[in-house]
Amino acid sequence: MTAGPASRSAGPGRIPPLRADLGLGEGYHSPQVAARVRLNTNESPMPPPEAWVRAVQDELGRVPWHRYPDRAAWALREAIADVHGVHAEQVWCANGSNEVLQTLLLAYGGPGRSVAVWEPTYALHSHIAELTGTAVLAGRRGSDLTLDLDEVRRVVEAGQPTVTFLCSPNNPTGESVPPATVDEVLGRAPGLVVVDEAYGQFAPTSALDRVADGQPLVVTRTYSKTWSLAGLRLGYCVAAREVVAAMERASLPYHLSWFTQSAGRLALDYVDDMERRVSRLVEERGRLVAGLSALPVQAWRSDANFVLFRPQTRRGDDVWKGLVDRSVLIRNCSSWSGLDDCLRVTVGSPEENDAFLGALEEVLA
Ligand SMILES: *Cc1c(COP(=O)(O)O)cnc(C)c1O
Repeated sequence: MTAGPASRSAGPGRIPPLRADLGLGEGYHSPQVAARVRLNTNESPMPPPEAWVRAVQDELGRVPWHRYPDRAAWALREAIADVHGVHAEQVWCANGSNEVLQTLLLAYGGPGRSVAVWEPTYALHSHIAELTGTAVLAGRRGSDLTLDLDEVRRVVEAGQPTVTFLCSPNNPTGESVPPATVDEVLGRAPGLVVVDEAYGQFAPTSALDRVADGQPLVVTRTYSKTWSLAGLRLGYCVAAREVVAAMERASLPYHLSWFTQSAGRLALDYVDDMERRVSRLVEERGRLVAGLSALPVQAWRSDANFVLFRPQTRRGDDVWKGLVDRSVLIRNCSSWSGLDDCLRVTVGSPEENDAFLGALEEVLA
C-alpha cells in the first residue's frame, strides 16, 4: 500500500489537521457544468459597456504600478458615496461583498459572539461566520419562505446575536424585506443589523436611506450582479462612520488593487446605462415568470434577477438533469434544507430565457 496523504499522521514536517471548528461544511460552490445557456449564478447576461472597457484601458496606462495603491481607496469611496448621497467615511470597499461580510465578522464576530440568519438564505452568511469562529443562530423562514416576524423576534430575543443578517432580496427565494420589517428588526436586535442588498437595484425598496452615523445598520452592495462586473470582484457597504473605521482596522493593508479601484470608479460614469439594464432585466423577469406560470411549476415572487420554482410533476433533481442534457444550466437547490425539489433560474437575455423555457417545457412534458 502506498502512503497517501490520509495515512500520514501529524508530526514534524507534516501538514496539520484543519482547524476543528471548521466542521465538515463543504464550502459554497455552484457546480460548473459545461452548458450553452448558463443561468446558475445570477450574473448579468450583458457584458459591461464598451466605453467603460476603453476608459479602463486608458486609465491603466496612467497607474503607478510600482507603488502600493491608495490604502483608503478614497477616490472610489467618494464616487460611491456620491451615488448614494452619503459621506465617503460611510463607505467601505472590498474584493466582492463577500469580503465586506468577512471583514465585518473579523471586526465584530469571533469566539463568544453570534450571528442570526433565517434559512433558507444565502449560505455564505453562515459560512463566513464559521470561518471567523462566530456562532450561528439559524432561524427558519415561514412555510411560504418569507421572513416570519415572530420567528425573527424569537431568535433575536433568545440568542442576542452580535450581528443579525437580513438578505434583501433574499437569495435564493427572491423576496425583499419591507422597510417596516427592517425598522422592526433594528428596534429589537441587540447588535449590528446587516442588510445584504446584492440584488438591491432590482427591488422596489432599500434600507440605504436608514443608514446614519450612530445607527447599528450596515447595507452591503456588489458590482457582481447589476453592474455586469462579477469578474472585477468589487463590493461595498454603506454604514455608520464608526463601523467603517472598525472594518478598516480588521482588513489587510492595500487589500484593494489599483485596478479594482480604478475600474470600479470608472464604472460609476455609466449609472444610466446600468439603470437601463436593470429595467430590461426586470421586464425579462416578468416574461420569465409568465412563462413559468403556463407550466406545472410553483414559482415564487421575485424582487431580484432570479426566480425560485418547484416543478410539480417531476423531482427537482430530474428536471435539473434534463435541463443540463439540453445544455441549460440553472441552480439546483433541491437538496437545501426547506427547498425540496426547488430550482433557481437567473434572468438571462431574451434568447437565454426562451431557451430555458423551451427546454423546461420539454422536460416537464
Ligand atoms: C451574489 C451574492 C453576493 C455577492 O458576492 P460578491 O462577493 O460581491 O460577488 C452577496 N450576497 C448575496 C446574497 C449574493 O447572492
